[in-house]
Amino acid sequence: MNAKILSLQSRNTVDWMDWRWQMKHRLQSVEELAEYIDFNNEKIRDIQMACDVFPMSITPYYASLINKDDPRCPIRMQCIPNPQELIEGRGDMDDPLHEDADSPVPGLTHRYPDRVLLLVTNECSMYCRHCTRKRKVGDNNRCTTEKDIDLGVEYIKAHPEIRDVLLSGGDPFILSTNHLERIIRKVKEIPHVQVIRIGTRTPVVMPQRITDELVRMLKKYHPVWINTHFNHPREFTPEAVQALARLADAGIPLGNQTVLLRGVNDCPVIIKKLSHLLVKNRVRPYYLYQCDLSRGIEHFRTPVAKGIEIMEALIGHTSGFAVPTYVVDAPGGGGKIPVLPNYQLSMTNTKTVLRNYEGVICVYEEPQNPGSGCSPTCSLCKEHIIRHEPVGLQKLFDPSNLTVSLVPEGNRRKARYTARKGEAHVYRNQKK
Ligand SMILES: *Cc1c(COP(=O)(O)O)cnc(C)c1O
Ligand code: SF4
Repeated sequence: MNAKILSLQSRNTVDWMDWRWQMKHRLQSVEELAEYIDFNNEKIRDIQMACDVFPMSITPYYASLINKDDPRCPIRMQCIPNPQELIEGRGDMDDPLHEDADSPVPGLTHRYPDRVLLLVTNECSMYCRHCTRKRKVGDNNRCTTEKDIDLGVEYIKAHPEIRDVLLSGGDPFILSTNHLERIIRKVKEIPHVQVIRIGTRTPVVMPQRITDELVRMLKKYHPVWINTHFNHPREFTPEAVQALARLADAGIPLGNQTVLLRGVNDCPVIIKKLSHLLVKNRVRPYYLYQCDLSRGIEHFRTPVAKGIEIMEALIGHTSGFAVPTYVVDAPGGGGKIPVLPNYQLSMTNTKTVLRNYEGVICVYEEPQNPGSGCSPTCSLCKEHIIRHEPVGLQKLFDPSNLTVSLVPEGNRRKARYTARKGEAHVYRNQKK
């Protein structure tokens, strides 16, 4: 038996706890994998076919969590290539979230008004089979360079509205502590950046990386927020629990982003159990993502109805802070759209009728004189209005704004209208 495989079975050795050892001994070929799990020839061919298109990489640690007797093991499904990845799904896209299209400089996506996504590497210790950035992760031709990052930093400097910078990838914790610190320092030095966020799957797939050294470095740059990516209760091992404790003890607020995956966690019982384990470990469930339309992950997708069913089973049934926000990241760069079961049944001027998680129907009596509680002299409000034009539906709510409708680009009726009158972008109230 080869040395790598032997070590796979000897957890808690010095090597096992060394993240560089985990990196170096990642299972990246079907031969290496076949030494660890007994596959028949047909299965090996299948895996190889998928690997040829979307590369494989599994840390010995994560591989050790696979239940070898269960072909539908949720750990296995997240890391072992599957020929279904080669099936083209209806609606598959190369860049469903328009991360490239909405990118002013390589590796930076500026979608929301006050925050940006900065990709600091395209490498990960493990390649998740459901990865939305599958076409980029591990691609040596698309390495993030120091220059890309500097361009991103320059962009952030030039945009004072950016107050929150989300470092992601790939997985930022793949970088050496020094390298990561150089990046964080550059971002932190920008005066208008108030918060640094890191998105990482490391506590799940290579918890050994969460060393005291890493945590000591991160602490210097507070506020640093971290979002992890646990998808299944089985990912809570003593190693993962220790990694989370180290981060939480360093005063880092922890969130978790779960992807809803068919056959892995598309069940209210699993997601509830996962949420309970997260909060027990001081991690706040943040988002539950509907699976994206990326190429190669069609077989993981569930109907949106499954997400609604899960939310129905969580809201009210368990602690509010154990309930994530269920979001669909809209194709075409629309961003994350929250989706909820319907709780609001009906309303009149005087009453709103709601139902609760138990199905009880209740009425909320509206106030008799619903004037605004806002003070016309409020300085926060004045300052805000000077700096910000109303956006989206706020335009329709704002009493001083004359917009009466928002019209999608390419609207035919509007095209006829503008052709006739050469009018402005939005309909305005003609009576004024
Ligand atoms: C998810 C995301 C963010 C962060 O969104 P939050 O809702 O603030 O967590 C920022 N930029 C992009 C491009 C994103 O996809
Ligand atoms: S850790 Fe994140 S970026 Fe890396 S493969 Fe997994 S989902 Fe993709």
